[in-house]
Amino acid sequence: MPPINLAIVGVGKIVRDQHLPSVARSADFNLVATASRHGTIDGVPAYKTIDEMLDAVPSIDAVSLCMPPQYRYEAAHKALSAGKHVFLEKPPGATLSEVADLEAIAAARGVSLFASWHSRYAPAVEPAKAFLASTHIKSVEVIWKEDVRHWHPNQAWIWQAGGLGVFDPGINALSIITHILPKAAFITAATLEFPENCDAPIAAELHFKDADNLTIHAVFDWRQTGKQTWDIVAETNAGTMVLAEGGAKLSINGDLKFAEPEQEYSALYSRFAQIIKSGTSDVDIAPLRHVADAFLLGKRKSVAAFHD
Ligand code: NAP
Repeated sequence: MPPINLAIVGVGKIVRDQHLPSVARSADFNLVATASRHGTIDGVPAYKTIDEMLDAVPSIDAVSLCMPPQYRYEAAHKALSAGKHVFLEKPPGATLSEVADLEAIAAARGVSLFASWHSRYAPAVEPAKAFLASTHIKSVEVIWKEDVRHWHPNQAWIWQAGGLGVFDPGINALSIITHILPKAAFITAATLEFPENCDAPIAAELHFKDADNLTIHAVFDWRQTGKQTWDIVAETNAGTMVLAEGGAKLSINGDLKFAEPEQEYSALYSRFAQIIKSGTSDVDIAPLRHVADAFLLGKRKSVAAFHD
C-alpha cells in the first residue's frame, strides 16, 4: 500500500514535540499539508483553514486534528464529511455527544476515526496490564501532580470551559487505568478545585469503585513544583505494583521490572495506519466519560486565583 497522504491541523506544541518526528519516521504516512492560523512547517504547503486546505489538496487521505479540544468537532466534521480518515488528539472532543456524532459520521462515510490516547502506548502499560491480570488487586492509588506553569505556559484555552484544566494531564492517567484494570470502574465521589478566575479546575480528587468493590483513589494537582509525579500504585496479592513516570516504568515490590524508551506517538501512528488499512475505527470514550462524570458528581471548591 502506498503511504497515506496526511495533513495536520493546529500546528502547536504537541505537533512540533511529537507528531512531526513520529510522522517523519513512519513509512505509513507522507505529510502533504498543514492548516493552522499561525503555525507552519518548513517545506510543507501551509493553509490558514481546513476548508482552504481540503479544497487545495484533494490528494489528502487522512487528517490529524491537534488544536485544543473545544475546536476539534468542527474540523473533524469537515474532514470526515470530505471522506478523510481522522486522528483526534486527546481528549477527542469537548463533549461526549460530539464524539458520538463523529463516530456515526465516520461509519456513514466509511472512513476511520481514531480517538488517540497516547499514554496507553507508554512502554510499561502492557506489562502492567499483564501483571494485574495475573493477581488479585486490593486497591489502586493514582497520583498525577505536575507544575502547570512549566508544562502549559500561556495556554489560555486550558483554563476555559471545555479545556479540562488539570484533567488535561489527568485524562492520561484515566486512559491508562481504563486500559489496565480488569473491570470497568465508576466515580463515587469527587472534589474539583477551581481557581476563582478560571472555568476549569487546577486540582481534583476522585474516588472510584468497580463491581467487585475495588477502590481506586486519584489525586490530580497542577500546583506541584519540584519533583513531578505521574504514578499508578496498585496493592495486590503479589505485592505493590508501581507504574511510574506516566507509564514508562514498572516496579513490583520495589524491583524495576520494565523500563524502555517511550515511543508513544510512533505507536499511535502505527495504530492509525492499521485501522485505516483494516477499514475500522478506534473510539474509546471511557477516559472522557470519567471526566464528564467528575464534573457531574463532583463538589466544586473555589481556590486562589491562578496567574501564569
Ligand atoms: P497549543 O500549542 O496551545 O495548541 C495547538 C494549536 O492549536 C495552536 O498552536 C493553534 O495554532 C491552534 N489553536 C489554538 N487555539 C485555537 C482556536 N481557538 N481555534 C483553532 N485552532 C486553535 O496546544 P498543544 O499543547 O499542542 O495541545 C493541543 C492538543 O494536544 C490538546 O488537546 C492537548 O491535550 C493535546 N496534547 C498536548 C500535549 C502537550 O504536551 N502539549 C501532549 C499530548 C496531547 P494556530 O494559532 O496556528 O491556529
